Amino acid sequence: MERAQQIIRIKRDGGELSDGQIATFVGGVVSGRWTPAQTGAMLMAILQNEMNERETAALERCMRHSGEVLEFGEPGGPVVDKHSTGGVGDKVSLVLAPLAAACGLRVPMLSGRGLGHTGGTLDKLESIPGFRTALSSEEIRQQLAAVGCVMGGQTEDIVPADRILYSLRDETATVESLSLISASIMSKKLAEGLDALVLDVKYGRGAFMPNLMAAEDLARRMVAIGQSAGCRVAAWLTRMEEPLGGAIGNAVEVAESIEILRGGGPTALRDLILDLVAGMLHLGFDGRFASMAEARELAVQRLDDGAALEVFRRLVAAQGGDVRVVDQPRLLPQATVTHPVLYPGAQPAYVAAIDGRLLAEAVLAMGAGRQKAGDPIDPATGISELVALGQRVEPGAELAMVHARGTAEWERAETALVAAIEFSAQPVEVAPLVTKVLL
Ligand code: URA
Repeated sequence: MERAQQIIRIKRDGGELSDGQIATFVGGVVSGRWTPAQTGAMLMAILQNEMNERETAALERCMRHSGEVLEFGEPGGPVVDKHSTGGVGDKVSLVLAPLAAACGLRVPMLSGRGLGHTGGTLDKLESIPGFRTALSSEEIRQQLAAVGCVMGGQTEDIVPADRILYSLRDETATVESLSLISASIMSKKLAEGLDALVLDVKYGRGAFMPNLMAAEDLARRMVAIGQSAGCRVAAWLTRMEEPLGGAIGNAVEVAESIEILRGGGPTALRDLILDLVAGMLHLGFDGRFASMAEARELAVQRLDDGAALEVFRRLVAAQGGDVRVVDQPRLLPQATVTHPVLYPGAQPAYVAAIDGRLLAEAVLAMGAGRQKAGDPIDPATGISELVALGQRVEPGAELAMVHARGTAEWERAETALVAAIEFSAQPVEVAPLVTKVLL
């Protein structure tokens, strides 16, 4: 077997690694044959020189097969999932998974926890009393057959290589490599045994990717990996210039998701969910729908006739959650102080900009997120009913509701909210959320 030093040297000098060399690297990481110093050096060489399409696909494949790859087989609809690169207030998954299942897809959605300024789907769901996200592969299989969707955490056996590599990337300042990001994300999604995958790659102020060009580069890499693995993948490039919807936090985001499942909620968020579900149906059923618009019609029907809400209810029950929250969201954890923040201006105005990152940091400071892995979180705190870009506000109007653990915390959040929102005396035009679709 080739020595680690020889393989590292090739990438360090800008060369191309063979599939065998990449397999030796990943195998060495998982078995412990490669020392952390060697793995760190290799990660830095990849960050500096990146990998081409073939190398990235080989890296993803080796990572995926470092652990269990789920298989669901027949009978049942196509197995499809969605991945978002994460954004402030992104609660799309909570509505999308039950809606896609209500349209006949099977959705084995395994997600991560929130870290830093973006929240995690698992944390949001766990604000439902009793809701369990640590499921075994057998539980995932059974629930997928019975309910049509599962929302849990990655099991220990799924892509163990990513856990080791991710923590070393964090320690060696190599998280940013697009080859490493795309292989990391895709290995975990493809380990779900998918027929198709829809990606929501966000860019802008509140997102991981700063601009459209960077987002498109990442999206193209992930689509190419999926195609090389025989999975149908499409990517939606979406703007993140304001939080997604009016709620940021955990229980408050669950409450807003239930509102959407009941046919209400912010229009832009509902539309994005419907677009992504249409993409999942179109790719998943591969030819059953004449167009994306036809697939979207089915999604609208299943949202409006309450079928998606029913699947959500069954999902909550199957994972041990208190199903009463579906009809009475007030049973979700409530903060001690819930009070509105008012528009301080003397003249009517339009909301011209909302700094999502600043708001996310304010919510993090209120205990709703974690600074480092393993930190406890407060499920009740956050922001809800936030104004939207372009909205007209009158003097004294409510900008948002702040859910805090005390008055001092509420006041700090108020200061952040007022600083995060810019106003204009003139009407403001708002661009659509979806900029581009890579099919
Ligand atoms: N999310 C992941 O799962 N992996 C990365 O490398 C970055 C974001």
